[in-house]
Amino acid sequence: MSFSTLGLAREVQQAVEAMGYENPTPIQAKAIPLVLAGRDVLGAAQTGTGKTAAFTLPILTLLAPHASNSVSPAKHPVRALILTPTRELADQVGENVKTYSQFMPLRSHIVFGGVDIKAQIPPLRAGVEVLIATPGRLLDHVQQKSVNLSQVEILVLDEADRMLDMGFILDIKKIISMLPKRKQTLLFSATFSPEIKKLSAEFLNNPELVEV
Ligand code: AMP
Repeated sequence: MSFSTLGLAREVQQAVEAMGYENPTPIQAKAIPLVLAGRDVLGAAQTGTGKTAAFTLPILTLLAPHASNSVSPAKHPVRALILTPTRELADQVGENVKTYSQFMPLRSHIVFGGVDIKAQIPPLRAGVEVLIATPGRLLDHVQQKSVNLSQVEILVLDEADRMLDMGFILDIKKIISMLPKRKQTLLFSATFSPEIKKLSAEFLNNPELVEV
């Protein structure tokens, strides 16, 4: 199996080549075609399996035809929202998004708590197509009206089990209630506890289960 058969956008394929990746990891080989087909995905994967690229590469491919880096929130509403439990993971995923989108004109941004909120506002107001965020700080931004989530097409819940362990369930539900009903949802979790199953049953639409 090679990356070139997976149907990634040319610009994304170019980034994969620049990274020197030769073959997709098992989770990438399974998840990428499903995400490209518009399916909701429930992914069982630990860190280190290549799960970040498993959702980022197809998301960038779906966004590529209309991506742009001009500064305009009206033209560039948040189209993909990636929620992570911690600042470290938000940073890591955000860096991956920037690397994999380096050959396309796409605006992405990372927001997390524990730092001054004011500095985070101007880039958000300028328009961001892919937003990577921790739940609490994202809600602060929604309250400050620095971000509009009404046009999100793709939601990723990354390390969902850790987000639940950290007590983010109400924040997550609140965020999801602000998103369009019609969207694609991808949930990744290292474990499938009853709580994760409940979350998945509530918010994913006929998901395809991907295990590695
Ligand atoms: P992750 O599980 O998303 O944290 O990724 C783990 C590491 O694997 C990261 O350092 C990636 O850059 C790397 N990686 C992801 N996909 C591939 C691939 N297909 N081939 C080689 N390395 C990869």
